[in-house]
Formats: sequence, structure tokens, C-alpha cells
Amino acid sequence: MQALPVAVRAGLVALVGAALVAPLSWLPASTATAVAGAMHLVALVVALVAMVRSARRGDVVGARSRWCLAAALLAVAAGSLIGLALTILTGSIPVPSVADPVSLAWVPFAIYGFWKVPKREGAGAGGALQLMADIAVALTALLYASYLWILQPLANTGRWTPTGRAVELSYPLLDVTVAAMVLSLLPRARADMRAFLNVVACGLILIVVSDSGSVLLLAERGVASFGWPDVTLQAGMMLLAYAARMRSRTRLNERRASSVLDRNLPYLPIAVAGSLGLLHVALVGPLDLWQALMGAAMLVAIVWRQSLYASALAGTAEAHRSAAVTDALTGLANRKAFISRLTEHLSTPGVGPAAVVLFDLDGFKEVNDTLGHDAGDEVLIAFAAALTSAAGGGLAARLGGDEFALLVVADGDPVSMAADVATQVNARSFSRVHGGPRGIRGSAGVAALLAGDTPSEAMRRADLAMYAAKQSGRSGVQVFTPSLAAKADRRSLLVAALPGAAARGELHLVYQPLFRLNDGQLTGAEVLLRWDHPLLGAVGPDEFIPIAEDAGHIGGLGAWVREQSLAQVAAWDRAGLQLPRLFVNVAAAEFVPELPQHVAALLAGHRLLPDRLALEITESRLPGEAALPIMASLRSSGVHLALDDFGTGYSSLSQLAHLPVDILKIDRDFIGNLGEQSGRPMLDAIISLGRALGLTTVAEGVEHLAQAAEAANAGLDYAQGYLFSRPLPPAELAELLGSARPLPTLPVPRTEVRTTVLHSAED
Ligand code: C2E
Ligand code: CA
Ligand code: CA
Repeated sequence: MQALPVAVRAGLVALVGAALVAPLSWLPASTATAVAGAMHLVALVVALVAMVRSARRGDVVGARSRWCLAAALLAVAAGSLIGLALTILTGSIPVPSVADPVSLAWVPFAIYGFWKVPKREGAGAGGALQLMADIAVALTALLYASYLWILQPLANTGRWTPTGRAVELSYPLLDVTVAAMVLSLLPRARADMRAFLNVVACGLILIVVSDSGSVLLLAERGVASFGWPDVTLQAGMMLLAYAARMRSRTRLNERRASSVLDRNLPYLPIAVAGSLGLLHVALVGPLDLWQALMGAAMLVAIVWRQSLYASALAGTAEAHRSAAVTDALTGLANRKAFISRLTEHLSTPGVGPAAVVLFDLDGFKEVNDTLGHDAGDEVLIAFAAALTSAAGGGLAARLGGDEFALLVVADGDPVSMAADVATQVNARSFSRVHGGPRGIRGSAGVAALLAGDTPSEAMRRADLAMYAAKQSGRSGVQVFTPSLAAKADRRSLLVAALPGAAARGELHLVYQPLFRLNDGQLTGAEVLLRWDHPLLGAVGPDEFIPIAEDAGHIGGLGAWVREQSLAQVAAWDRAGLQLPRLFVNVAAAEFVPELPQHVAALLAGHRLLPDRLALEITESRLPGEAALPIMASLRSSGVHLALDDFGTGYSSLSQLAHLPVDILKIDRDFIGNLGEQSGRPMLDAIISLGRALGLTTVAEGVEHLAQAAEAANAGLDYAQGYLFSRPLPPAELAELLGSARPLPTLPVPRTEVRTTVLHSAED
């Protein structure tokens, strides 16, 4: 039994109820009436007890409805007992009798119980009128059917006093009301109530049908005696008893919002009325005026209900449509709406020139991360407001996240107009998330819409321009130019080609020597990476190293450089050519905890002392705090650390003092400035700073003799630059290492410059 669906089990219960009573028709009428009455009473008491017990259970859903149903059953039981007492005492039940008001009390209890059933979420919104319309349809339809078959025959019966007729008529009238309420409320009940309520509703409707039927039989026969209403009554009672025993507990709404049954339930009374109307016409004859008027009332109710539902449906469709094209947070158009407007514009001839602007907020992630999502939302809303007010007639949209877009249509020059608007937006948008007003800035890219464009082509150009604006780092506005596209194409080509470049043999290394300024000794060489791309030719590290860093490929490249160059140094060692120290560039992203171990393993593998290696870190791209222990661990292993391009990164004095470096490579801009007035004092300041911190100083990019002389005079330790040597292929550096002749006869006398003794790789 447990495995069967509720509907099947309930159907079986109803069938058993009917099957228990139906055979009584073979008994003599009076016996059948008495036995059926006793069976009804037993079923009634069972249902009543079960309902009270279930209503008292704390965890049951709809306890209030169960109490009401119990009260309704109690009213019926009390009415039956009074009727029984009257029969015993007087031999029959008069019409009307005191039993009538008691029995009829079941109706308000049943209706109230159903009315109080917990409603489904959303069923209440805008639903009061719809509920009334549903009740009106059910009521008029059932009234019509009941009028044809029960109410009218009952009213026309010659039996009883007018009061008695009125009392008897109130049974089928109230029955119809109960049925209409139950059918209209059922689809609105909460999901976890439904199994219970479905069974209760079936039970109630069976009882209602039986109730009306027995009044009709009473009118026909004059005495209450056994008939078909006893069969449906027993089935209905047993269904109520079964429903009371159903253990539906509080569960989440797991049922679909509305089922096929829910949607079609309102049509059930119409179907009943329609078929009973046809049957009446077929068996009894054409409708009289009152019957026709009742039918018309039903039709009016149906039309009212359908128009109500149709307009509600139209409203829902409109709400869905606008939700589908607007951004919920800012109320701007969403990406879909923006693209479709763009498509529309591009496919409509003669609509005039237009441009798109793409915005990406600067620093939005930090606001979200540090101040929370509410602050982030506020920033987005404030920016959207500024965008709307600056947009004029243009379409402003939020594409998602912190990306916004604008479509500007203008007769003159839409691009410069769009650029103006973008500048205005940046000037106008403020948020108060930091307490006081704070500017919100976006990087903006502007692109004109071209004839024959697809929306995605136009968006891509605006995106490229926006990316360029972002790169510039000034919250600026960038207008698309074809060179941006070429740059982006080249960039994506490089990103794709980088990871396999070493394996394909496209990479090689060159070595630029460093010299000690006071005696001209070669003291080391910096290894520099070269890439010969098969299509693009030589690609400089200034171009591909930042790309590798962005694309996350720098780790592999750096490891390759360290492995190759240290192997080279070891090979030179074995050939008796000692490079005193190798300088290797290391990008910020390479300062991972595994770096010291990788370096140590390489040095040990090649039998090189750590002192033979210096790692260069660019000052302007210093790794974060987390890298400090990694740097310290490298330093303590004996590897040297150099601060590269010093002077470009504006390190503070205190920062410098905390960095575990021992070499300062002074950027070539300072060396280049040496001829100018301000050059030397700056250099002197840097050198004394370096001295104070006990650092070795290196002059980078020395191209002219005068610079070398000044650098030497200022007291710099080493120099590197085209004046002495260009970066060299390994073979040429080996030659330099092997040449016994001590290199350029430095030092240059501190006061004068001797040009003749210096040789440069440039010539
Ligand atoms: P850097 O570390 O400052 O390297 C020195 C750059 O200055 C080299 O350019 C070198 O050729 C150039 N240079 C040397 N002497 C002179 C001179 O007298 N005048 C002028 N104008 N330039 C001179 P290169 O080889 O193009 O390297 C550029 C940058 O690429 C390097 O700057 C470095 O930051 C990066 N880089 C090169 N190889 C690697 C590498 O293996 N790993 C990493 N992470 N970065 C590398
Ligand atoms: Ca360097
Ligand atoms: Ca440098």
C-alpha cells in the first residue's frame, strides 16, 4: 500500500467505501437505510477521531484546517445523532427539524478550513480578484447544473411547507458553495499541503454530491431511505478518514508552481455544467428562461475570469520582457539589449553615424574586496547615474561586472562626441562609499561604427581601445586606431607562440660584460634573452618579457634562461675561461618559494659557488612583501641580489634599507643625464646612498667616454654599456674571456679622459 501513489491509494479507499454500502440495495429498504446510517456514523466517527488526532500532532502542516474539518465532521455527526433520536422518539424526522441547523453548520466550518489552508508563495499577489473570478465561475457553473437537476425540481415539489422547502433547498445551495470554494482554493494551496488537500477535496465533493442527491430523493420519496447518495457519502467519509491519517509534514516547496491539474481545475465545474446541461436538453427538453439565465450568468463569469487572467498574463510577459533587457542593479540596458540595439542600428540604412564607448571601472575590484559588495554596488549605481546623465539621447548599458557601454548617435562626429561624453562621465561620477565623495573613474575605449560592421567587430575595436586606455593607467579615454588592432594581433600571436619557443629552438642567449671601473677588469656578464620568431623576426625582450609576465609564461622562460646560462658558465669553466659572475634577470612573478631551491640545485649541479651568480630584480617591478623571505633566503645562500634600473621605481629610503640586495644597477637614464647640469648631483646622491648601505654600484647604459669618466670620478664600482661591449653571443664572450690582454686600460685618470685606450664593441 505504501508504495502506491497517493491518488491510487485514495481511489482504493473510496472504492472500498462504495463497495461496502452498495450491496445494501439488495436488502429491504428499511433495513438498508438503518444499516447504511450506522455505517455512515461509524465512518464519520473514525474520520472525526483521526482528524482530531492529526490536528493535535505538533509537526503536522495545516493544523488549523484539520481542526476546522474536524468541527465540520462533528456538526454532521451531531446532526445525524439528533436525526436518529428524533426517529426513535417520533418515528420520523420532520421537515424542517432541529437537526437541520446543526447539520448545516458543517458548511461554514469546511469552507473556513479550506480558506485557511497555507497558500503557495506568489498565489496571493494580485490574486484576490482572480480568486473571486475563479469562485464566480465555479459557483455559477455548479449552480447552473444544480438548478437544472436539483434546485428547480426541489423548488417545484409539492411537498413540505414553504419554510421546509427553503430549509431543504439550502442544502444543495450550500453544497454548491462548498464545492466552488474547494475547487477554487485547491490550486492556490502550498505544495506541502497538496496531497492531503487533494484527498480532502475529493472526499468533500463526494459528500456534497451525496448531500444534494439525498435531498432530491427525499423530495421524490417523501421519506429518507437508502439510495445512491449513501454510496457516495460512505466513499467521501472514508476518504476524509484516510486524509486525516496522511502524514504530510512541513517540507520545502518542492512541487512545481502550478501543475496541469491546477491549471485545469477551474474548467471542471464548467465541464460538469456543460455536460449536465446537454443531458438535460436531451432528456428533459429545451431550457426555460431561468435555466437559460443561469447558463448566461455562467458564461459572463467565464468571460470575466478569462479576461482577468489574460491581462495578468500580459502583465507578467511585460515584466519578463523588461527583466530580460534591463540590468537589475542599475536599471540600465543589459548586454543583450545593447547588442540588439547595435544590431538594429547597423542593419538600418541611413540612421546616421554612431560610435560605441566601452568603460571598465578602475580599481573596482579593490572596492569590492576591501569595502564589501554593498559598497561595490553603490559604486556601480553611482557610475550608472553619471553615465545616464552624460549620455543624452545615447543608450547606456551595463554589460556585466564593472563594464559599461554607451551608444552615441550623432550627425557630426560621433567619435569625438563619444570621447567627450566619456570624459564627462569620469568627471561627474562620485560615490560616497568612503564617507566623503570619491571620484569613480573608468578607462574608456571609443570606436566608430563602420558600414558593414557586425556588433562584435565594433565591440572588439572599442575593447582594444579600452585595453589601451587601461594600459596607460590614467583612467583615460582612448579612441580606436588601426595600429591598436595590429598591436593586439601581434600580441596574441606572441602569446600563442611563446610557450613553445624554447623547444622550437627560437630562443638564444647573449651576454653583455660588466667591467670594473678602476682597473678595467671584466668582472661579470649579464645574460639577455633573444627570440627569433620565424615570421616576425627578432622580437625584443622589452616586448615579449612583459607579455610573458601577463600571460603567465615567465616562470618557464626564466627557468630556461637560468639553466642554459649556468650550464654555459660551467662549460666555460671547464674550458679554463672563468666568468667571475653571471647576472641573470628575474621577473617579479618568478619569486615563488621554489626559486631558491631551483637556483641552489643548478649551482650544485654545475659545481658553481653561489658567489658566481647575481639575480637582478627591476626596481619598478619589485615583487610584493611575500617575496622578501624568498629574497632573504637567496641572499643567505650566498647568491647576490641586484636592484636593476635603480632610480626608475622611486623606492623610498626605508624600503631600500629593508631589501636584501647588495648591488645597485643605476638606470641608464641617470648615466645619460650625466652631461646635463642636474645629472651629477643626482648621481652623487645615489652613490652616497649606496655607500651608506654598503652596496656595490653599477652604471648601466654607458655609451660615451665622457659618461664613463664621470661615472668613474663619481666613484661607481662597475660599468656596463655599448661603450665597452654590446651583448655578445657566447663564442664572442668566450673570446673576450680568453684574451689574456687585460681589457681597456681603465681607470681613466679622474680628471681627464683618455679616449684612445678604450675600445667599444660598437666599432
Ligand atoms: P635590462 O635588464 O635593463 O637589460 C639591459 C638592457 O639594456 C638590454 O636590453 C641591453 O641590450 C641594453 N643595453 C646595454 N647597454 C646599453 C647601452 O649602452 N645603451 C642602451 N641604450 N642600451 C643598452 P635588452 O637585451 O633589449 O633587454 C631589455 C630588457 O629585457 C632588460 O632590461 C630586461 O629587463 C629584460 N630581459 C632581457 N632578458 C631577460 C631575461 O632573461 N629575463 C627577464 N626576466 N628579463 C629579461
Ligand atoms: Ca638587467
Ligand atoms: Ca637594467
